Amino acid sequence: MSTATDRGTDVGEFEGQVVLVSGAARGQGAEHARAFYANGASVVLADVMDDEGASLAAHLGPRATYLHLDVTDPHQWESAVAQTQDRFGVVSVLVNNAGIVLRDHVLSVDPAQFMRVLDVNLVGTLNGMQAVIPGMRERGGGAMINISSMGGLHGRPGSGGYGPSKWGVRGLSASAALDLAADSVRVNVVLPGLIDTPMVVTPERTAQDAYQRNADHFLIRRLGQPRDITNIVLFLASDAASYITGGEFVVDGGWTA
Ligand code: NAD
Repeated sequence: MSTATDRGTDVGEFEGQVVLVSGAARGQGAEHARAFYANGASVVLADVMDDEGASLAAHLGPRATYLHLDVTDPHQWESAVAQTQDRFGVVSVLVNNAGIVLRDHVLSVDPAQFMRVLDVNLVGTLNGMQAVIPGMRERGGGAMINISSMGGLHGRPGSGGYGPSKWGVRGLSASAALDLAADSVRVNVVLPGLIDTPMVVTPERTAQDAYQRNADHFLIRRLGQPRDITNIVLFLASDAASYITGGEFVVDGGWTA
């Protein structure tokens, strides 16, 4: 397991912070949760994969808890944020990480599936921001990190609803950065490249297959690891990023260069 020192940060850097990570049961979200915890934060892991999420929270320790949260449902967000506040205090950092993927040709993409991916990836991000804004205003500020994708930076064949949803996250985040600046709430976007998580590596496709199929794209010659994204998420949440809002940060091993 990664440790706090991987990033060269103080172990207590996020002490007193209350961090909510959506989609934290596995993959990148789980790594973000582990790292915030290791750096002293109280962490709420929110997801729909209840067994995995609860087990990770229990493994982390008393400053972590798991909550069932379908990001498409504003009422579940309201309840998750209230429960977080009761348990740890007002949310100071939100990582809108939950996401699903849909790949299809523009001609054949099913409108219902298209709406579903927009609902999770884009509307889910809006729901999360709306749920935490009142508390962040009250506490005098906060940080939001919204996860887009390099698929939200350029078109890709067969992108289905995924690319559009991730382009949308960039637009939504820029608007939110403008709307929330007066409240000292910083909003930034991270655009991961191809990352070694269950979204990409499946029983049918090994990490090696995923790399080989795209080998020409990687200037840094490996698949991204969740920790590569965690490093920038923690930076953007930290005081070291206090002058950064409305920013977009591509972490893709050079793919989009
Ligand atoms: P993952 O599939 O391992 O994790 C996604 C998590 O989101 C899962 O735990 C899943 O249960 C959760 N989730 C899905 N729908 C949800 C919902 N309605 N409510 C709450 N939680 C829900 O994938 P990952 O790679 O860790 O993805 C994390 C984020 O990074 C996603 O937004 C994804 O689109 C983005 N991303 C991934 C890659 C990649 O190559 N893996 C590249 C670019 C961007």
